[in-house]
Amino acid sequence: MNVYDGQKMADLLKPHGYRITEISEDADVSILNTCHIREKAEHKVFSDLGRLHAVKKDRKSRDDDRDMIIAVGGCVGQAEGEEITRQAPYVDMVFGPQSYHRLPEMLAQIEQKIKGKRKKIVDTQFPAISKFDFLPSASETPVNAFLVVQEGCDKFCHFCVVPYTRGAEYSRSAKTILQEAKHLLALGAKEITLLGQNVNGYHGEGLDGGEWSLGRLIYALAELDGIKRIRYTTSHPLDMHDELYDAHRDVEQLMPFLHLPVQSGSDLILDAMNRKHTVAEYLKIIEKLRAARPDIGFSSDFIAGYPGETAKDHQDTLELIKNVGYAQAYSFKYSPRPGTPASILQTQVPEDIKSTRLAELQDLVNVQQIAFNQSMVGKTLEVLFDREGKLPGQVLGKTAYMQSVTLNGDSSLFGNLLSVKIKHGHGNSLSGERL
Ligand code: SAH
Ligand code: SF4
Repeated sequence: MNVYDGQKMADLLKPHGYRITEISEDADVSILNTCHIREKAEHKVFSDLGRLHAVKKDRKSRDDDRDMIIAVGGCVGQAEGEEITRQAPYVDMVFGPQSYHRLPEMLAQIEQKIKGKRKKIVDTQFPAISKFDFLPSASETPVNAFLVVQEGCDKFCHFCVVPYTRGAEYSRSAKTILQEAKHLLALGAKEITLLGQNVNGYHGEGLDGGEWSLGRLIYALAELDGIKRIRYTTSHPLDMHDELYDAHRDVEQLMPFLHLPVQSGSDLILDAMNRKHTVAEYLKIIEKLRAARPDIGFSSDFIAGYPGETAKDHQDTLELIKNVGYAQAYSFKYSPRPGTPASILQTQVPEDIKSTRLAELQDLVNVQQIAFNQSMVGKTLEVLFDREGKLPGQVLGKTAYMQSVTLNGDSSLFGNLLSVKIKHGHGNSLSGERL
């Protein structure tokens, strides 16, 4: 989502004479597009701000008349606007994920000096109008494009800040989504990933005036000329629905790989987290997806050391992981977030126990990931090439399961789906020969 927002910010500023620089020290404007999901991400913002402040001061000391405008956007901006201006008074502008469409206007205001001093802007309101109506169309796109279909969340899991920073659930209309998809395809996109904090909870206005589910939307998207791959992320188990299972069965371009976070394998913890489903219900969903698409692979997120988590709860999570057999998974130590119900519980798990549990989760998931990658050896997989590899003369692509594959070749291969016979499976990648 932040990558998408970042691209949109660049698109918004382009007509105003700004372009992206790879050299941050040289920038006229630096925008930190931030994440508030865990404390670590938030700390990173403050250390990055320190680095930018040093650049700003250095320019002043060298009498360089080019100042640097420093902006903090994204969810840390939304949640910590006041704190940022207090701790880092040199920041010129703070804005949230729902107001970045006003960036050009905000920048213009900042450049107007008031009594010799630059104006400061903090814009963290949730406008009633949709920012999507004000975002420009992309002027270029990668082979793999992102498309936001839904934003915000009304689920209020007890550990999570998203409902407070991204706001209430909102689904865009199918018409605007399909228009944006056509535009991305015309610019050369081959794969489209539909994005939303609760993407499978999508319920926008359909082309027929009725409400469409994500499954219905995927059927319509698959009809567009030139679309080779469709993905969607991130889903919540509660929002799986029949049209989506059907789409997994019927829509060839819908990739057989699903990120379906479960967070914990203990019913007690799931209940405490306010996830509103049980382990058995989650397993049933996995079973239904496998019935619809037997070659489907799964990934998930796990939280280690949620308040009140016992050794038994943790074992239950390891059991669930063994039971499902993931292609990939992300796990995090529980991080208390301001304003969330879990953060004030008295039953916080000590840091060292969280670390041990996290390591156990990650070890198990790594073993599964390697086994999954090795199970590809001998198979012929379609790979969509889209970028240069690490070594000169190499290109890199992704399989349906997001594994990286490198081949010798050049940029003429970008955007092509090629068949590769897999010879080796590694930790994060596969290697093989083009057929
Ligand atoms: N909407 C998605 C998740 C979005 S947040 C869902 O419901 O699954 C992305 C991931 O960050 C979550 O799946 C969770 O594993 C992790 N996360 C969120 N808040 C966290 C916290 N306070 N501490 C640790 N991990 C957290
Ligand atoms: Fe956060 Fe996802 Fe829960 Fe929403 S559903 S509160 S985004 S973890």
